[in-house]
Amino acid sequence: MRKKLVAGNWKMHGSLQANQRLVEAVREGAAPLRCDVALCVPFPYLAQVSGLLSASTLGLGAQTVSEFGQGAYTGEVSVAMLKEFGCRYVIVGHSERRTLFGETDQVVADKCVAALAGGLLPIVCVGETRLERESGQTQEVVSRQLAAVLSAVGVAGLANLVIAYEPVWAIGTGLTASPAEAQAVHAAIREQVAALDAGRAATLQILYGGSVKPQNAVELFAQADIDGGLIGGAALVAEDFLAICQAAN
Ligand code: PEP
Repeated sequence: MRKKLVAGNWKMHGSLQANQRLVEAVREGAAPLRCDVALCVPFPYLAQVSGLLSASTLGLGAQTVSEFGQGAYTGEVSVAMLKEFGCRYVIVGHSERRTLFGETDQVVADKCVAALAGGLLPIVCVGETRLERESGQTQEVVSRQLAAVLSAVGVAGLANLVIAYEPVWAIGTGLTASPAEAQAVHAAIREQVAALDAGRAATLQILYGGSVKPQNAVELFAQADIDGGLIGGAALVAEDFLAICQAAN
């Protein structure tokens, strides 16, 4: 039985004051839960949230990381820097990074390699756009994105990596893949890994992301190959985020 993980992606939201209230509420509400819970926050708030989470089991994460170790990369943040602030997780290849900031499959793969080498656990996002789904390319797109990561980190690298299936058309739109639609893609991801290593496939955590809410979380998380969620909008409301964590418990 795979342990479930619920990771909140705050995106570019937050303030020192609002974060304090949100993290305190989540920390308290999540304390008795058995599932893993992580908060992926904007870089400037890592120190604050790290402090607020210090005596808790909740994990801290960032939303992206540089593929480079150090040097003349203005504006970038390295794996070592994230580790210094207590990060355990980093989201890699979120569709907003791919679409708005031009991250290719190769860049995403390089970031995974850097994260793993530095001891961070990448939450690697894959998923198709609405057009790709409508033209029947979902499996092909997801499989290509996964293959790029697999060829960079090897199947052994999956021991310390989580996949998040996030259909782009479902992110922040209020549209959700039906539990059956999501399950079908999750099963295909697991099969792709199983073709290389059945044992690794059986333990790989595959999260679903895309307008997960307290109302749909129970059914989504009940699917055989859905091992938790990557949560955007609902992660900004303590009550909603905790209800989703409860659903994964
Ligand atoms: C996300 O940001 O990864 C996400 C899934 O957002 P939302 O839950 O708001 O769709």
